[in-house]
Amino acid sequence: LFVVLEGGEGSGKSTQVREIAVWLREEGFDVLTTREPGATKLGMRLRTMLLDKANAGMAARTEALLYAADRAEHVETVIRPALERGAIVVSDRYVDSTLAYQGAGRELDADEVAQLNDWATGRLVPDLTILLDLPVEEGLRRHSDRPADRLESESLEFHERVRRGFLELADRAPERYLVLDAREPQEAVTKAIRRHLRRMLPD
Ligand code: C5P
Repeated sequence: LFVVLEGGEGSGKSTQVREIAVWLREEGFDVLTTREPGATKLGMRLRTMLLDKANAGMAARTEALLYAADRAEHVETVIRPALERGAIVVSDRYVDSTLAYQGAGRELDADEVAQLNDWATGRLVPDLTILLDLPVEEGLRRHSDRPADRLESESLEFHERVRRGFLELADRAPERYLVLDAREPQEAVTKAIRRHLRRMLPD
């Protein structure tokens, strides 16, 4: 089972990844938690390049290719091996982040970005994608206690396009999406995720 958490800045993805993993392990499942960008040794170097403020002017296609490279490495060396041994994989971000940030956010052609990522991942699609949706200003406020990265310099409009990008993806594939309001208390969000996931778990 491959589960992905998606959402904008400050939506609480990493907390929810942790909460889901604790619960699934208590239930006796083999769980691997992971994240993008930067889950592999090579990916850590790509993450540094991608988030370095000094690279803020990077071309949108370069950015899309570096995220795709990180993801290709992630899928081949981390995600697929774990799925093959029967683990539940819970990832903080995946392809839909790129469709939202590099596609909608940077206004690259959606079909081209999707094709690039189909190739990078060998068409590995999550069984469930949980979108933690949050109004942009609320997310940026929550995010402001973190070390600055290059996304900081992006406009509100950029983040609005990203948010809309995620919501459109969810609309287009409702069968694999769970959209939750990330303004709800963290415990309520965790509960909603558990309720949904329980139905998908093997006995
Ligand atoms: O999820 P996390 O906060 O670690 O992501 C790191 C940064 O990378 C964030 O600022 C996020 O918006 C950005 N990002 C991006 N494009 C992606 C994935 C993440 O711009 N495909």
